[in-house]
Amino acid sequence: MKKYLGNNCTVQMITYERSIKSLVQEKAALHDREVKEEAFFIGDLGDIIAKYQVWKETLPRVMPFYAVKCNDDYAVLKLLSDIGVNFDCASKAEIMKVLDLGVDPSRIIYANPCKQNSFIKYAAKKNVEMMTFDNEDELHKVKALFPEAKLVLRILPPSNFKVQCELGNKYGCHPDKACTLLEVARNLGLNVMGVSFHVGSGCEEAEAFAVAIQQARNVFDLAIDMGFDMTLLDIGGGFPGQQSAPIPFSAIASVVNEALDQYFPASEGVEIIAEPGRYFVASAFTLTVNVIAKRVVTKEKTNDDDPVDTQGPVMMYYVNDGVYGSFNCLLFDHAKVEVSTLQESDERSYSSSIWGPTCDGLDCILEDCPLPELRVGHWLFFRDMGAYTMSAASTFNGMPPPQKYYFCEQDQWNMVYPERVRKSSYIQKIPFMMTGHLVDEAHDFADEIFGTSPAAEALV
Ligand code: PLP
Repeated sequence: MKKYLGNNCTVQMITYERSIKSLVQEKAALHDREVKEEAFFIGDLGDIIAKYQVWKETLPRVMPFYAVKCNDDYAVLKLLSDIGVNFDCASKAEIMKVLDLGVDPSRIIYANPCKQNSFIKYAAKKNVEMMTFDNEDELHKVKALFPEAKLVLRILPPSNFKVQCELGNKYGCHPDKACTLLEVARNLGLNVMGVSFHVGSGCEEAEAFAVAIQQARNVFDLAIDMGFDMTLLDIGGGFPGQQSAPIPFSAIASVVNEALDQYFPASEGVEIIAEPGRYFVASAFTLTVNVIAKRVVTKEKTNDDDPVDTQGPVMMYYVNDGVYGSFNCLLFDHAKVEVSTLQESDERSYSSSIWGPTCDGLDCILEDCPLPELRVGHWLFFRDMGAYTMSAASTFNGMPPPQKYYFCEQDQWNMVYPERVRKSSYIQKIPFMMTGHLVDEAHDFADEIFGTSPAAEALV
């Protein structure tokens, strides 16, 4: 059975337990039957719903504003908006995308401390009030273009903790300089109402959050002393999104909760938000690629001590997505990827390299991995490919983006989109969702499902 999510996007319901491999097998077999060699993503929307449930249970005080940059796929944004997650946008186009879903502008933070003038004007026109800053020039721009904006001062995170991608090299006001910046804001009569930080994407040491929250508290107090009405703390992103991450989400959550209770006790009433990106989407997408070409080479023994087996062939496989496409994460996100095959694991394996489809020597996905012998037309798949992959991909050399297939476990889907219920009982189930302002959207969705959308009628 399929469900319609809008924008020509259909979701296949899963009614019994299925492994990712079996979903890949199903779609690979479909492509084989249709003689289609195109690469494809499997998007497990149930995984995103489960992540939201874990977030709510584990970080109950923190409202997530999903970082759109991480994966701006329509189905992801639509599902997150229907669940009640809010959004972190970094540009006019991202804001437009989110507003087009019918999301209220109060559910968006424009979390880019260095914004283009025309984008600030657009935010003003659309009433996207909350925005970050970390420098004096930005304050003058905001004064000229959107003086009513609700400003959030982004401070530098501590730099001595390990992260996958550092962000403090580009953004963030040193906490020691916050006073000067706040004075400028005060002299301009601007409305600073919060402090934010981002410890770095792919945080590998939970303590980074404790230190950053403590520093944010100091800046918060400074701003209060200067007369600002401070109501918001934004703890940024950095939360892991896949099982193989160096530290689990739960480890970060317990450090965050403890630090919040110490520095921002609930009794104070400060609104706490975060900007998770990879947390929500990393494990939700699996990428399957087709072996489009193959070269067998012989390893050269470079010296007598070289343990290389000169007898064994070395395989070079060329597949139809690469570092200019979804695997840009290898370069930009410092990601590590792991390949899986549909073959039986007890087959003899050979030293193999995997290359993307463009004519560039840089376009290498894995330099040396053991794989059973593959033929042209075979499929390989890569788990945990939802974060910073498709959103930054190009079509360099005319290589097309992968297709997308969406799945969702029926029970999880029903939690977000209860079926065949009267509108009133649909609304009763809203407490699953985090915010109250979804009621109108719930009505809209119910209309879409039960009446007005021909596509919905065809599929429900
Ligand atoms: N917020 C901002 C301002 C960012 O720049 C990023 C990522 O670069 C994020 C949130 C999302 O970070 P993550 O995917 O690590 O959660």
